[in-house]
Parts: sequence; structure tokens; C-alpha cells
Amino acid sequence: MAKPLGSNRAAVQATNDDASASKLSCVKKGYMKDDYVQLFVKKELRRAPIINRGYFARWAALRKMLYQFLDCEDGNEGHTKKQILSLGAGFDTMFFQLHDEGKAPYLFVELDFAEVTSKKAALIETYSQLRDKVGETASISSEKGEVHSDHYKLLPVDLRNIDNLNDIIAQANLDPSLPTFIIAECVLIYLDPDSSRAIVGWAARTFSTAIFFLYEQIHPDDAFGQQMIRNLESRGCGLLGIYATPTLQEKENLFVDQGWQKAVAWDMLRVYSDFIEAQERRRIERLEIFDEFEEWYMMQEHYCVTYAINDAMGLFKEFGFPNRQPTTDASIATST
Ligand code: SAH
Repeated sequence: MAKPLGSNRAAVQATNDDASASKLSCVKKGYMKDDYVQLFVKKELRRAPIINRGYFARWAALRKMLYQFLDCEDGNEGHTKKQILSLGAGFDTMFFQLHDEGKAPYLFVELDFAEVTSKKAALIETYSQLRDKVGETASISSEKGEVHSDHYKLLPVDLRNIDNLNDIIAQANLDPSLPTFIIAECVLIYLDPDSSRAIVGWAARTFSTAIFFLYEQIHPDDAFGQQMIRNLESRGCGLLGIYATPTLQEKENLFVDQGWQKAVAWDMLRVYSDFIEAQERRRIERLEIFDEFEEWYMMQEHYCVTYAINDAMGLFKEFGFPNRQPTTDASIATST
């Protein structure tokens, strides 16, 4: 089995600039609406249709799951307070978008390396469109890379140190008993597998009613996978985690082995055709001439969404992909 080359901090941080530039390319073409991403992009780029479609699929899948989570209600108590915790959030603008839509949760917490949170904090301070959303009483420090307001926190942390994550709970005022949606979008795959396992296990032990949303690469071993890895390695971004969880089954096992009650992984080909709304697909498929079908199928087979569920409050019975697939369920796994 090939051994992954190293990953360097600046290069991994640069993948964030790449993601923002790609999201802006999608916005300009009409794939999705995001009034904020342009504030985070220095140099506007036009991406190929296949890249735009891939980012759209990633965005639409996360967005649909977030809505499912935000709309889950505890039958007895009316409106339940909810939290979102984004690991390696980069310049993601989801908080600002949800705010505009009147769907922002009680608390939205974003974590990243200090170099990234400093830049994000500076931009939030600079642009009134952003500053207004975090609230007038927010304290913003670009030196520390921190934003603290009642409903939004941005904090610097190296995710590989679990003690830091425990401190974050207190600093961010996260309440482990509240329903929490944890986002790890193209982040854990850059970490060594021990760190990723530790984060997944920490989250399982910390949050009793939670969804963990993971979007990242799979299948390192075929020709396409090897090329994908070489491309990223040549930029200094080794996919350190990919050999520990190379298949959908192993992505599910990662969560169940670390204590999550249930985990489901689908590749993006399936997510695109069986989860993203048909109406949305029809809309975006008309936006650009698209003839790279073979490449598209291969690419989408090399990315996946895995979600894991802890459901102490019994909120998530209806949550997730449509129920037509075998899942890895801890209760089944342990009883056999
Ligand atoms: N989730 C965002 C950004 C993805 S880029 C999106 O999908 O748009 C990956 C991000 O993870 C970068 O911002 C990088 O700085 C962050 N990251 C990688 N390793 C990290 C670590 N050990 N600690 C904190 N952040 C990390």
C-alpha cells in the first residue's frame, strides 16, 4: 500500500482559499446563492463545469442535512435550542447565509488554525455586511483570531490536540446537552488517522444528541484515486487519513467504533442522484454545457458524505438519507 507523503500547514490552509474561489465560481454561474463568499476571495477564478457541479453537490448535500437538523423538533417542548460546530471551517459563509434566511441556530461555532481565523476575524471586522450579522456587541480580535458574540464564535485551535477541544467547549459556551451539528468538510482527511479518530471519539463522548457530518475523499487505490492523491501531494497536502478509511464501510466503522450510535456513508454519485432534490439538479444541469460525464462519475465516486448520529433526545428518527440502504448500526454490530 502506498504511504502518504506529508502535509504542511500552509498548504492545507491554502485548500481553504481554493474552496472559497470555487464556491464563488459557482455563485457567479448561478449554481447557488451566497452574498458573502466574494468578500473572502482575493482573486476571482472561473472553474470548469465539472468543478462547479462538484462544489454544488457538496454544498447542496450539507445544506439539506443542516436544514433537516434545524427543522427537527422535540414534540413536547416546542422550539429546541440548537448548536452548529464547524471543524476547520475556513472561510465558510454558512453562518451568514443561515442568518439571512432566519435559520441561524442558537449558537454557531467555527474553529480553524489561528492563521485562518485571524484573517476571517479581520474580514468580519472590515465588512459591515458580516459585522452586522455577528451582532453589534461582538468582540472581534484579528490578532487573537477570535470573534465572540452571543450567537457566533470564531476560535483558533489545532484540532489535533484534544485537550484544546475540551477548552473550546468552555470558551465557546457550547452546551453538550443541546442538539449539535458538527461539520467536518474536507478537514479530517488531512489529519493523521489517530487525530481523526480522537476527534470523532471526543465528539461522540461530548455530545449526546448530535449529528457528525463528514465530507471527504475515498478510494485511494484505483487509478483515479492515486492521481487525486498525487495532485494534492504535489501541493503539499497529503491526504493522511485516506488509507485508514478507504471505503464507505470503513468511514461508517470509524464512527461506530468511536462510540456513535449509527453511521451512514454514501458516495457523492449516489448523494447527487438519490438525495439532492431532483428539481435542483434539473435547474443546475441547464446552467453550463456539460460533456465530461465519464470524468464526473469517477470524480463523484471518490468523494463521500458520512453522517453519524447520537440521539439521546430521540430527535433524529427521520434524519438522513432516504431509507433504502443497509446501514452500520451499533446496536446490530454489538449484538451479533
Ligand atoms: N470546511 C471549509 C474549509 C475546508 S479547507 C470548507 O469546506 O469550505 C480545510 C480547512 O481545515 C482549512 O481552513 C485548514 O486550515 C483547516 N485545518 C486543517 N487542519 C487543521 C487542524 N489541525 N486544526 C485546525 N484547522 C485545520
